[in-house]
Amino acid sequence: MPPKRKSDGAAASTTKKGKKASPVPDEDLSLSRHPRWAKVSASGNSDAAYRELLRDPEYAYAWLTACKQLLENGTLEGEDDEDDEDEEGKNDPHCDGGATCPCMDPVAEHPEAKYCISRAGMQRFNMVREMFQYRDPDTFGMYTFNDASAYGLLEVMENQILDFEEAHKNWKAQWAVCEAVAMYIGADEFPALGHVDDPDTREKFLGLLGKMFLTMLDKLASMDLLNTDSEVKDLAVVMTMFVQNSQKLGQYGLYFPEDFPINVLAYALKHDIVLSELLEVDKFVKDHSEEAAGVSLPALDSNRNDPWKFADALKQYRSSKRPNKMGGDAYDITTWTSAKRKANAFDKRNDPCPKHMIDALKKGMFIGLG
Ligand SMILES: [Zn+2]
Repeated sequence: MPPKRKSDGAAASTTKKGKKASPVPDEDLSLSRHPRWAKVSASGNSDAAYRELLRDPEYAYAWLTACKQLLENGTLEGEDDEDDEDEEGKNDPHCDGGATCPCMDPVAEHPEAKYCISRAGMQRFNMVREMFQYRDPDTFGMYTFNDASAYGLLEVMENQILDFEEAHKNWKAQWAVCEAVAMYIGADEFPALGHVDDPDTREKFLGLLGKMFLTMLDKLASMDLLNTDSEVKDLAVVMTMFVQNSQKLGQYGLYFPEDFPINVLAYALKHDIVLSELLEVDKFVKDHSEEAAGVSLPALDSNRNDPWKFADALKQYRSSKRPNKMGGDAYDITTWTSAKRKANAFDKRNDPCPKHMIDALKKGMFIGLG
């Protein structure tokens, strides 16, 4: 494990005065296909497009406005419009995914906007959604095996953790992972993870996800970026989503470590970050501030590496993954052989991914899924 703190620390010190720190040039972000993906893989194509986006840091890490509804419901399509007419939504502008609302406009155009997200974070969220669809047998009208979508979702999320780890020299890329994960754990399909039939795997995985975010917060704090003047404009938004969405999952048998939201709140209190008016977080803040204020967070020290033991947890999780390795695209149905797809198709005869689709994937194109 290379030392994480050093490279980011150096970047922070050279840009201390300026608000706009440039990300560390990252040689890992290459156009070449990541070895994690199969030769023909819709996931691989989505990933390549995302890496392409990151090659223009100024564009990728620009801040875009986001409506409250978008952040709370995780949809740009307006699918949930009708459900949003509740009493507390009345004062918020109607969100239609940017058609008439300010969603995805540069923040400079909407100084009044309360919420924002980075373009990279939003694109990653969309990529995560796509990647789940590629693994969901329903997408292709197939029946594969019980809980296929649960394991598919786990695989997609594992890839997020691997991406976070691989981007250790580029905190902006890491933050984008956190933004997307914060939103996605609140998405409609996420509770499918509860069908992973091994509670130990579920628990270890969510513990790892929690450590990832706490590691991120520690890193931002060490770079003097965890404060109200931070260039990271959606700190409060992302912290709020982690606090609330992680707790909501308990009803589906998905438990983050009990102290996870308390620790996030502890970081917020220590660094004067007021959690956002999202997801009714107020009650949690009121009920747990005293406890959170008493948490002793790892003290900042530039020599320390990995105060939340993320690397250890990742190593442990990796070694516990059997029979499949962590992440990758084994559950992505587009990576399967035609014979395997046919065998799992409803009619057992026709490949749910026709030849023209596979040919398009080979050319690096996307497939439109309804
Ligand atoms: Zn909107």
